Amino acid sequence: MRGQHRQAVALGAVAGGGKKRRRLRHAALVPIPAILHKGIMATNPGNADIRTAGWTGLDWPGSLRRAGRTILDYALPPRCPACGVIVGDDRQFCLSCWSSLDFLDGPACTRCSIPLPTALPGSEPSCGACLADPPPFEGAPAAVAYGPAARTVALRLKYGRRTGHARLMAQLMARRLTILAGAGDALLVAVPLHRWRLWSRGFNQAALVADELAKLTGVPCDHHLLLRRKATASLRGKARRERERIVAGAFALAADAKVRAAGRHLILIDDVHASGATLRAAARALKRSGASRVSALSWARVVPDALMPGNIFDFASLDSDMIDNRMSG
Ligand SMILES: [Zn+2]
Ligand SMILES: [Zn+2]
Repeated sequence: MRGQHRQAVALGAVAGGGKKRRRLRHAALVPIPAILHKGIMATNPGNADIRTAGWTGLDWPGSLRRAGRTILDYALPPRCPACGVIVGDDRQFCLSCWSSLDFLDGPACTRCSIPLPTALPGSEPSCGACLADPPPFEGAPAAVAYGPAARTVALRLKYGRRTGHARLMAQLMARRLTILAGAGDALLVAVPLHRWRLWSRGFNQAALVADELAKLTGVPCDHHLLLRRKATASLRGKARRERERIVAGAFALAADAKVRAAGRHLILIDDVHASGATLRAAARALKRSGASRVSALSWARVVPDALMPGNIFDFASLDSDMIDNRMSG
């Protein structure tokens, strides 16, 4: 299963036979035709995708690959994924952007990972929101707080088709995943897109990140366990009850989910975690599979302004689905 999916993920696999095409229809992503992919990448200021998923990804002899890489380094030097200045290596932030990332290492709610102003007593401190309405997932760490650099990376992956950014995000999420997964029988489940959105975008950014996490950590992923049966409207600007109403029933389990998930630790993978409405709805569906535990891991956690001086984002108006109508910078 995992091997088959990885095959499907490879850019250019769309040229496969009818059997593969049918498989892709049910997969969590649809590969972009290689020529379209290259055309899009060439118009973007950065070039990590050409460098990592295009020419240099081909199985060329070593000498040719090295020569091609030298030419690429000269013509398309690696750039910071957030601000675009030239940097020393692929998937590397410049010093300024790197310094601006908040890795959320301070005290935080053990359920939703929202930073807490001070370390609360007890082994598993919870924020007020989680105490009042416990989420259906146990733990939801994120690699970084949602700030300008984290936002740019997420949006360029999602809308700018900078698929190489999935690897970068996974690299910074891997440490959290290793701790979260522990030695248990964990399985990664990317938050799925509705099929119409999948076809219009061409790929599911969460599935790309999950695949990269699987490669980095060895924790397998299953893109056919959870289905999105409702194309939900944007959650942006909606009150909490309204957000919950919109995503209610949006997710469903595959017919054979219980066979594959029962007794396992399922870890939802998403790009942005803000209100948590989407993650809650997805986790509720996963819990019906008989999983021993459901948790979540995201690239960026939106943190209330009061806890993040200088953060210009409105906590109540953002979520993974809420930024769908924004264009990449
Ligand atoms: Zn930068
Ligand atoms: Zn909390």
